[in-house]
Amino acid sequence: MNDGFWLTLPQPCPYCGAPNDGHAAASAAVTSPPEPGDASICAYCHAIGIYCAEGIRLPTRDEAEQLATDKDIQAAVLLSKAWGREN
Ligand SMILES: [Zn+2]
Repeated sequence: MNDGFWLTLPQPCPYCGAPNDGHAAASAAVTSPPEPGDASICAYCHAIGIYCAEGIRLPTRDEAEQLATDKDIQAAVLLSKAWGREN
């Protein structure tokens, strides 16, 4: 059991290149580290990427459209931005 936070090798954001090396779950229900296909929100630029075997990639057009209307993802983006302003 962990606290919903995992450290990994730095995975560059596909938008800004920031070396994200910590991954926090957006929900207490998440008890395992991110897997390929899961969404990622950059801690630096707050853009949404997709975990893949090589790291984090840009979403496809279909994924981007789905993510833009996912209320949980959009809430997580807002929290990421708020956290970024505080730290
Ligand atoms: Zn970024």
